Amino acid sequence: MKAKTEWVNFKEIKEKVGMEDVLDHYGLLRELKREKNKLVGYSLCNEDHHSKRSFVVNTTENTWHCFSCGESGNVVDFVSLIEDVNIKLAALLLKKWFGIISEKDRKLFKKRS
Ligand SMILES: [Zn+2]
Repeated sequence: MKAKTEWVNFKEIKEKVGMEDVLDHYGLLRELKREKNKLVGYSLCNEDHHSKRSFVVNTTENTWHCFSCGESGNVVDFVSLIEDVNIKLAALLLKKWFGIISEKDRKLFKKRS
């Protein structure tokens, strides 16, 4: 029986895709204000929450935190929340959007050609 789960290299995705890339993908980068290694802005989850600093991205650590709902995480967690999908599917979406091809994928492509 073929394995149902496709192996996803989360580490590679987190290394190759920055929070800024993901925010830009959603057109959200311009909504945030840059402060040194941070991007701050309104929360994405709660429109009634009017604090300008309720969503904070740390571009050095490549993480984010929402002070409105208390959620935080990395690029994969972010896409998982926005798209309402599990982290594996979120990781696959990131791979697709940013053209990340792992060594394993490369070998598969070679075999086929
Ligand atoms: Zn939130």
